[in-house]
Amino acid sequence: MGVEMSSSNGIPESMNDRADSTKRGKLAKAAMRFSVLGSGSGGNATLLECQQTRLLIDAGLSAKQILLRLDQLNIKPESLDGIVLTHEHGDHARGVDVLLRNRNIPVYANALTKEAMSWSMKSTVSWRVFETGQPFRVGDVEVFSFPIPHDAADPVAFVIEGSGARFGVLTDVGYVTQGMIQNLQNLDAFFVEANYDEKLLEEDTKRPWATKQRIASKHGHLSNTQASELIAQVASERLSEIMLVHLSSDCNCPQKAIERVRSELGSETCAEVNVSCASQNEVSSWIHFGEVVQAEEVAPTIFKQGQLF
Ligand SMILES: [Zn+2]
Ligand SMILES: [Zn+2]
Repeated sequence: MGVEMSSSNGIPESMNDRADSTKRGKLAKAAMRFSVLGSGSGGNATLLECQQTRLLIDAGLSAKQILLRLDQLNIKPESLDGIVLTHEHGDHARGVDVLLRNRNIPVYANALTKEAMSWSMKSTVSWRVFETGQPFRVGDVEVFSFPIPHDAADPVAFVIEGSGARFGVLTDVGYVTQGMIQNLQNLDAFFVEANYDEKLLEEDTKRPWATKQRIASKHGHLSNTQASELIAQVASERLSEIMLVHLSSDCNCPQKAIERVRSELGSETCAEVNVSCASQNEVSSWIHFGEVVQAEEVAPTIFKQGQLF
């Protein structure tokens, strides 16, 4: 399922969604959908919905911008079931404090991320501390986390599962590890950092050498090439959506990033998968993915076990 830009009545789908997005159960046959509120070094926040659950993944725009952009999707912040944090850097967490003034939205973070943020928080926070590597449940989704190399306290990536669909979230990553490749198999949609084009970073005259070193270091960010090679290693028949995120405004451009991914994937896979880029300033369309697995289609595990006796 792709980004559906128009519907049968000619109204862009994102506009149609606005009309009914306060109701649940609007996903039709898609298992999940997401919309990137904004992504880049200026701030990152993404809305993910499953059948019963609405999560904000990172809250790195200002609270004001998050509220404005949720409103564009006709979504009330009170309807969020949780804010799930990858790490404490300002471009992923700066909106949390103000967003929680007079609002009780649980914040899911591991202990070191919580610790790194707590000292500066004025709001009362309903922390839900998870252990990296231990899955946890929010509503009808299960969230798996795993560690990633980046210069933060205990940064993680996620695979979020619900209604039979798998959504991979990988951003702010210094380099690709075998663990990542294993964890990110069989995704339906992959939200992945493509921070910089190597050549544009090298030629960039605005950034001091030390900053360039940090970006390209083992605890910095993924280049288009690194992201493309990772995507090619985890792409399966299931994968229908790739959203490239955290693009540098000076050292990357959507066209270069998409072309790099497409050339790595090869024409056969490319025909099956949509590749998009998230923008810093504009809310993306809703992107639907996965097909709902009906209860009767789920293997009756208990019955099967019973057959052993
Ligand atoms: Zn970061
Ligand atoms: Zn970041």
